[in-house]
Amino acid sequence: MEERKAVEKSALDIRKVRESFPMLQKKRNGKQLIYFDSAASTQKPKVVMDKLYDFYLNEYAKPDERHAFSQETTEELENARKKMAGFLNAKSEKDIVFTRGCTEAINLVAGGFERGLLDKEDEVLISALEHHANIVPWQLACAQTGARLRVIPINQQGEIELAAYEVMLTKKVKIVAISHTSHALGNKLPITQMVAMAHKRGIPVLVDGAQAAPHMPVDMQELDCDFYTFSCHKMGSPSGVGVLYGKKKWLDKLPPYEGGGDMTKEVTFSSHKLAALPKKFEAGTMPFAEIISCSTLIDFLDDLGRTKTEEYEQQVLRYATGRLQALDRVRIHGTSGEKEPVLSFEVDGMDVKKLEGFLSDEYNIAVKAGDLSAQPLLKILGVKALIRASFAYYNTEEEVDIFTGAVEEFIRRKG
Ligand code: PMP
Repeated sequence: MEERKAVEKSALDIRKVRESFPMLQKKRNGKQLIYFDSAASTQKPKVVMDKLYDFYLNEYAKPDERHAFSQETTEELENARKKMAGFLNAKSEKDIVFTRGCTEAINLVAGGFERGLLDKEDEVLISALEHHANIVPWQLACAQTGARLRVIPINQQGEIELAAYEVMLTKKVKIVAISHTSHALGNKLPITQMVAMAHKRGIPVLVDGAQAAPHMPVDMQELDCDFYTFSCHKMGSPSGVGVLYGKKKWLDKLPPYEGGGDMTKEVTFSSHKLAALPKKFEAGTMPFAEIISCSTLIDFLDDLGRTKTEEYEQQVLRYATGRLQALDRVRIHGTSGEKEPVLSFEVDGMDVKKLEGFLSDEYNIAVKAGDLSAQPLLKILGVKALIRASFAYYNTEEEVDIFTGAVEEFIRRKG
C-alpha cells in the first residue's frame, strides 16, 4: 500500500508521455501497436526527431570549420558532450567519447587493450550473463595477444557467484568487463560491490550499461567504474550514437584502435601525434547530427524525471510479472530480486518463435524471441530460446493485459 502511494504521488502523466511518441499510435489490422521490445531499441520521442530534422534542414554544417553554421554545430556538439557528462555525473566532459554504439564502445576498449595492455600470461574476466557484444571483442583481443578469457559463473537464477568471482580476481587479471544489468534476464548485477572488489586489487572494470542507462539514473562517480558503455538508440535517440565514458587515467593509457581524420594533431608519412582527449578516440566524421539530437533527448528525459520513469517502469514490471506467473506452462527466467523491466520466459513444450509470430500477426505486439544474443547464457540455463518482453515508461498495464491475454490464447489454441 505504502509502495503504491509513493508511486501515485510521483506518477507520470502517461497519456502525455504516449502522445510524445508517434509510433505508439500506429495500428495494423485495426490493432494498436504494443511495443514490448524496448531492450532491442526504443521508440523515439517526437521532439528528438524534430530536432534532428530541423538540424539537417535548417542548421546543417559539419563541425570544426570556420564558417558560421559550422561554428554553431561545433558548439552544439560540445554542449551535447557536456550534457552527456551531466547525465552520467562524470567529472568532466573530456571523459565522454562518442561512438557509433555500445558495440563500438566495447570494441574500442578491447581493441585498445589488445594494442599494448594485454599479454599472453594475462586474463580478462567477463560474466556468464554477457551479450555477444561484450564477449566477442574480448575473444578477438585474447586471440591476438594470447591472453585468456575467463567467465564469472552464475547460478540458475542468473545471479553472479560472488565467491567464485573473488577467487578469480588474481594478479593475472587485466580487466573485468561485465554488464550493469542483464539484457536477457533483466537481473541487476551487484555492480558497486564487483567494482570495489576488482579495485581492491588494482583491476579496472568496464561496465556495459546498454540495458541500465535507459532505465535508471547512473552516476559514474558513485559507481566508480573505469569504463561505462551504452547505445543511445535504446533510450530514445536516432540510431548510430553510443557513449564510452572513461576515467581520464585509463583513457590516457588506452591506445586508439581506429585511425583517421580528426583524431590527430599532426601527421607525417612516418608518424602522427594524437589529439587530446576525447578526440583521440573519435576518428573520422562522427554522426554529429544524431549526437546533437541526444541533447534534446536528455532534456526530454530530465523533464519526465528519471526517478519517476524508473518507478513507473518497475510498477509495470511487477504487474506484468504477476500476470505472467499466473499463466499455466509459463516459466519466467531470471532472478526474483531486483531487475530491469525485462521478462524472459519459456512456454512449456511450445516454440517461442511461433509465439513471437502469433503476437505480431494477431495482436500487433512486438517482442523478441530466440537466443537474445546470449547463446552461452542460454546454454547454461539449458534452454534453446527465450521470449522477451521488455518495457519502457511509455507502456501501460492495459497493454500488459492484452499481451498476457494473447499469450494465454496462444497456449490454449496451439497447446
Ligand atoms: N550490450 C548489451 C547488454 C545489449 O543489450 C546490447 C544490444 N542489445 C549491446 C551491448 C549492443 O548494443 P548495440 O547493438 O546498440 O551496439
